[in-house]
Amino acid sequence: MKPENSNPRIDYDVAIVGAGPVGLATALGLRQRGIENIIVLDQTRAFRKVGQGLGLLPNGLKALKYIAPQAYNNIKATIGQPNNSLQTGQKNEVEKKQPSPEWHHVNVKGQQIRSYSMGYDEWFQQYGEGRISISWYDLQTQLRTLLPVERVKANHRCINVVTEPEFQCVRADFVSNQEVGTNPYAHWDEQQEKNQSNTVNSSQFPESEITSIRAKLLIAADGINSSVRQIIYKNTAYSRYSQPEYCGVGAIGSSGTYQIPEALAQEIKERFFHGSPRVVTITNHESDVPRIILFSPQPSQFGYLLHAAFPLESLLEKSGEELINIAVEELKKADFPEMVQQLVALSSPDKMIQRPYYTHHATVSAPEQPKWNMERVVLAGDAAHGMPPFIGQGANQGLEDAAAIATLVAEISNQNQWDDVRAIEAAFSKYEALRRPFVTYIQEETLIGKPFFSSDEKLRKYNQRVLSRNIEEIMQTFQ
Ligand SMILES: Cc1cc2nc3c(=O)[nH]c(=O)nc-3n(C[C@H](O)[C@H](O)[C@H](O)COP(=O)(O)OP(=O)(O)OC[C@H]3O[C@@H](n4cnc5c(N)ncnc54)[C@H](O)[C@@H]3O)c2cc1C
Repeated sequence: MKPENSNPRIDYDVAIVGAGPVGLATALGLRQRGIENIIVLDQTRAFRKVGQGLGLLPNGLKALKYIAPQAYNNIKATIGQPNNSLQTGQKNEVEKKQPSPEWHHVNVKGQQIRSYSMGYDEWFQQYGEGRISISWYDLQTQLRTLLPVERVKANHRCINVVTEPEFQCVRADFVSNQEVGTNPYAHWDEQQEKNQSNTVNSSQFPESEITSIRAKLLIAADGINSSVRQIIYKNTAYSRYSQPEYCGVGAIGSSGTYQIPEALAQEIKERFFHGSPRVVTITNHESDVPRIILFSPQPSQFGYLLHAAFPLESLLEKSGEELINIAVEELKKADFPEMVQQLVALSSPDKMIQRPYYTHHATVSAPEQPKWNMERVVLAGDAAHGMPPFIGQGANQGLEDAAAIATLVAEISNQNQWDDVRAIEAAFSKYEALRRPFVTYIQEETLIGKPFFSSDEKLRKYNQRVLSRNIEEIMQTFQ
């Protein structure tokens, strides 16, 4: 790191902005392929426990195995650990004999529509790779700790990116220790992580606090509210695609579980929780929204997340009481049974959360699509194509991006084309050509197709197309 006004020296072959799953996986993929002069910079003040749980699905795990086998092995070793704690280990003999927990989808009458295993083996048998539940933080930590400590830096918030053709590099500027507001688009940092802002405006930072790095390439994996995306789209035809769009569906829920009267708990358990699954999704009228996801880790303890087509303004800046009323009204309108309305009415106002879901559409209805790359800069993961989590593909698709980028950058390195901006642009365009159509399909399924809420045949085809996918084989035929 050196001040911006010193002699321009190229510090790194590759700089990665964002130490989320995609940035870190890309870094591991580059190192696996012999590219070691890299840096990952994240705005977080310090790496700490933030984030929701997520499911790594067969296509994402296949991508991870191809990116860096050690990362795949370490993450697989978290199976069976309470909360995927960081000690490694496999299920013990007793646990191995227990059936895997299930997630049921039922209608308001309590009739089961579908059931999904949350275990690894069942998915492995069907799709050649399993499914692993892991928290965002544990995933980040597993990946981060495989990189040398000096290669991942916290407290570096990217505020500016400039390509410098005269030096055949890209320069990125960072600030540290800035107090800034919350990020409405990143869903995992509501209470704990308050060091992000909504838009980038470098003029608000005193120059003395800015540090700069120069790299041959810059990979922007800085999430759905990507600063790099805003910077490279500014004053271009793509400026209106800088920020993500509300997808029309949001969530209201309780941030933890709470106790409800035993009689009500029993009524709910009897109607909806047959065979004791841990999680149940309830829908009505054959429609996918509103739907309520109920969790019940203990007999009378419940938590929930209600997904509905809430107008954006009905979610923002509402008190806990107001959110409870909005949720109960929504359930009433959709004829959800009284017992579900009561469960929601009993939520504690101080634990209420709301979460609008946003998207960067991979394909827009304009003749020219907003590019994911410009010269030496490329967008990856949520920064390129953030989407709501309805079919659990955000991180999995991001891992496919990481696999593609690592492979193509390795090719640039092998051919020693670091100074050839045309070759770099061609590689990034190849990445985009490979990834954009599939991500468009995934987003359509997330927002319109709703495979989990349609016919068995449609779900089977979707699963076959997405979960059986192997990015390694695709890269071999695409190269
Ligand atoms: C409730 C919920 C459930 C989900 N469930 C699933 C699931 O089951 N399966 C699945 O595949 N996906 C799921 N997702 C989506 C998944 O979490 C994201 O797709 C994934 O985290 C994207 O990874 P990323 O690395 O691209 O971005 P992020 O995870 O957003 O990481 C971006 C990183 O960049 C940093 N950053 C941001 N701005 C800057 C800046 N200016 N300078 C420096 N650093 C910066 C951030 O601090 C962060 O560390 C879910 C999402 C939500 C909200």
